[in-house]
Amino acid sequence: MPAGRHFLQIPGPTNVPDRVLRAIDRPTIDHRGPEFQALAKDVLEGMKRIFRTRHPVIIYPASGTGAWEAALVNTLSPADKVLMSETGHFSTLWTKMAKKLGLEVELIPGDWRHGADHAEIERRLAADQAHAIKAVAVVHNETSTGVTTRIPLVRKAIDNAKHPALLLVDTISSLGSIDYRHDEWGVDVTVGGSQKGLMLPPGLSFNATSEKSLAASKTAKLARSFFDWGEMLASNADGWFPYTPSTNLLFGLREAIAMLEEEGLANVFARHDRHAEATRRAVRAWGLEILCQDPEEYSSSLTAIMMPAGHDADALRKTILQHFDMSLGQGLGRLKGKVFRIGHLGDFNDLTLMGTLSGVEMGLGLAAVPHREGGVLAAMGHLAERARASSGVRRAA
Ligand SMILES: *Cc1c(COP(=O)(O)O)cnc(C)c1O
Repeated sequence: MPAGRHFLQIPGPTNVPDRVLRAIDRPTIDHRGPEFQALAKDVLEGMKRIFRTRHPVIIYPASGTGAWEAALVNTLSPADKVLMSETGHFSTLWTKMAKKLGLEVELIPGDWRHGADHAEIERRLAADQAHAIKAVAVVHNETSTGVTTRIPLVRKAIDNAKHPALLLVDTISSLGSIDYRHDEWGVDVTVGGSQKGLMLPPGLSFNATSEKSLAASKTAKLARSFFDWGEMLASNADGWFPYTPSTNLLFGLREAIAMLEEEGLANVFARHDRHAEATRRAVRAWGLEILCQDPEEYSSSLTAIMMPAGHDADALRKTILQHFDMSLGQGLGRLKGKVFRIGHLGDFNDLTLMGTLSGVEMGLGLAAVPHREGGVLAAMGHLAERARASSGVRRAA
C-alpha cells in the first residue's frame, strides 16, 4: 500500500468523509425496532430538504440504476412513449433500460458535448398532438461528459407545448453538488444515488415524487415488485421499510445530510462552482480542451478533458495512478481513450483540488502529453483570489 491517502478523483464514488465512516461503523440494529424508526423518519425527512420537495422521497437499497428503473416502472405502462435526450453514456444506458422494460423511446440525438436540447424537446412535444408521449426523461448532470442540462428550461419547454408528459430527471451526480429544486422546477420523479455528491459509499438510491407521479403510479401497468412505490410509501409512513433496508448506510446518510446542512446547501454549491472554475482555468492554461462546449452548461461536479489527437487518455490515467496514487475518471462509451474526467465533487476542498491538479500536471509531463505548464498556478490564483474576496482582504499592491 502506498503511504498517505489514495486520491479518488473519479466523479463517483467519491471520497467518504471520516464523519460518515464513523457514523456507519456501528452495530447493525433491529430494523423493526424503535431506534430504527427514528432513524428512518430522520433520513426520509432530511432527503426531502436535499431534493427541495414537500413530497415523499423513497430510499432503495440499490445503486442508482435501481432508482432509474423505479422511476420508469412506477409511472409508465407497456409501450408508453418516453422522450429521451442523448447527452452521453448515462442517458444512453437509461434509454436502453427503457427499451428493455418494454417502453417505446423517442430519442433526440446529441453530440455528447451539449445538454438536452430544450427547444427540440418543445418542438417534439408540440408535434405530439395526441399526447402519445407520457414522459420526458433527462439526465441533469451527464457524468460521462461534464455537461449540465438546465432543468428549468426543460420544464418551460413542456409548459410552452402545453403537454401533460411527466418530467423524470436523473441527478445521480448532481444532488448535493449542484443547485437542484425538485418542487420549484416542477419535476415529477427525481432519481438520486448515494455515492457521488452525498459522500456515501455506493448502495443507496432515491426517487423524489410529485402529486402527478404518485397519481400516475396508481394506474401504471409496468410490472414491478421490489421497486413498487405503493408498499414502500405505506411502510415509510410509520418509519418502516417493506424489506430490510441498508441500516448502516442510513446511519451514514443521516450524518451526510447533517454535514451538508451545517455547511449550508448554497455554500456547498458555491464551493463546487469555485472548484470547477479553478479546474477549467488549469485546463485552459495547459492548452487542453474542455469537452463541454457551452459555458452555460459547464458541470460543477466534474470536468471532462479531451486528449490531444494521438494520445491515449487511459495511458495517462495509468501513469498518474502508478506514480501519484490518484484515480481519474475514464472516457465512457464512445469517449473511451479520448477523454479523462476529473471529479471535483463531494467531500472536497481547495487543497484537495490543488493536489489533484498537481497530479494531473505532473502526469501530463511524465506521459509526454503535449501541454503547457502553469495549470496548477492558474487554478491556485483563482482559489487565492476567491479566498481574498470572501475574507475581504485586499490584494497587496
Ligand atoms: C453514476 C451514474 C449512474 C449510475 O449509477 P449506479 O449507482 O452506478 O447504478 C446513472 N446516472 C448518472 C448521471 C450517474 O452519474
